[in-house]
Amino acid sequence: MKLFLDWSSYENAGMGDAYADIPKHGGDFAKAVAVCINSRQCMQASAKGVMCPSYRISQNPGLSPGGRVKALKAALKTNDNQAFFNAELAEAMALCVSCKGCKRECENEVDMALIKAEFLGQQVAHNGLPLRQRLWAELPRILRWHGLRSLVTLRNRFPVLARIGETCLGISAKLALPVPAATPFQVGEIANVHEDSDNCDKQLVLFVDTFNLYFNPAAVQAAHHLLASAGYQVINALPLSSDSSTRPLCCGRTYFSNGMLDKAREEAQRVLAALAKHIAAGRTIIGLEPSCILSMRDEYLKLGLGDAAKQLAEKVLLLEEFIVREQNANLWPWSFQPIPSITKLLLHGHCHQKAVGSIKSVRKLLKQVPGLQFELIEASCCGMAGNFGVEAEHYDHAQAMSELALFPALRAEPEALIVTSGFSCQQQIVNGGFAKPLHLAELLCLAIPVDPVVI
Ligand code: SF4
Ligand code: SF4
Repeated sequence: MKLFLDWSSYENAGMGDAYADIPKHGGDFAKAVAVCINSRQCMQASAKGVMCPSYRISQNPGLSPGGRVKALKAALKTNDNQAFFNAELAEAMALCVSCKGCKRECENEVDMALIKAEFLGQQVAHNGLPLRQRLWAELPRILRWHGLRSLVTLRNRFPVLARIGETCLGISAKLALPVPAATPFQVGEIANVHEDSDNCDKQLVLFVDTFNLYFNPAAVQAAHHLLASAGYQVINALPLSSDSSTRPLCCGRTYFSNGMLDKAREEAQRVLAALAKHIAAGRTIIGLEPSCILSMRDEYLKLGLGDAAKQLAEKVLLLEEFIVREQNANLWPWSFQPIPSITKLLLHGHCHQKAVGSIKSVRKLLKQVPGLQFELIEASCCGMAGNFGVEAEHYDHAQAMSELALFPALRAEPEALIVTSGFSCQQQIVNGGFAKPLHLAELLCLAIPVDPVVI
């Protein structure tokens, strides 16, 4: 079995453990699967945290991390392609939303999101890539087409078009698709910063991800304003490009999530090439979309990209992590001010933020806004999970995930402002009939003092 991802960190997994029961085929990938100790913790009825949304809505042990491990192990023991790609296993893997809840909460850190990525890579290599998955994967390129905004608007307005989309492509007609902003975030909207190697502590690189670039440029503008108000110079807060093409950089998340792992690697290499000089200069890289930015600390390390990926992983932070880090070092110059227009706020964390613990930084910042009442919604995955929630056959599963805790919490506080930084989470919430959430950057912008003192 030719593996697409680098599983060498599992090389010694199960060594000396007589019960490890590592399948004969699949090399270190099989060892990563076999780290499950069958404790059944992921099948607890009273589960809290994130793990495991697909089990929680189904109560089907086969749809828990441990259940998936069992099916994968059985398939890897046979070295039979038919067993590895059988319909039952494919369905169990398809219903994993790659929330990374198990990576954090399973007592043996089974990383089913990564295992699913390898599984999808194998599946694509074996069966080819269905058109719908190709469209999702190529979204960063498709979004450059100016006609897309009109097409999506028409599709959302006329149910017959949505039904055609469902019949031909399997895109659920039951929900609206996100409409790109009239104008993506523009290069000219920000002042050019002169790169200064003597001033790297105050210079940052803001990585503008595909989703905020095309769908939510207001969040990018807000982040830029926030950082500038604290005296930071934001270098190239625009779609960086390392080559002569004008195609914006993209982290590669859409390729990774749809089994196009070689393409994901290519995108990651473009990112690494473009950021190399900033990393060498010691500048911090920050970003706004959890699934994109955190992939640079997680998935990139499994793409066989060598030391460059390790160096980036040490330098890349989400906005909230950066601000808290600066505050802890007494480098953030001012305190947040009250936001009189907001009385109550509900915070929904993206699963990947919860998986790395960065939601703590968000809470820490919100606590600093005087008088702000906020509550972190105790919820698992919102259900959208990239493209999962808009796929016709997964729509009901996604809604059921939302109804576990997120939607009831939002209904209980109809007047509350909703904050979430995940683009998918924002879409699921809007499609659930709730007000459009703010990105954290947009909220924090409202709490900048009138005359911020900058050191
Ligand atoms: S996946 Fe983790 S929590 Fe579930 S049975 Fe295996 S070791 Fe236990
Ligand atoms: S990644 Fe999430 S959905 Fe997938 S098995 Fe783990 S907890 Fe369940």
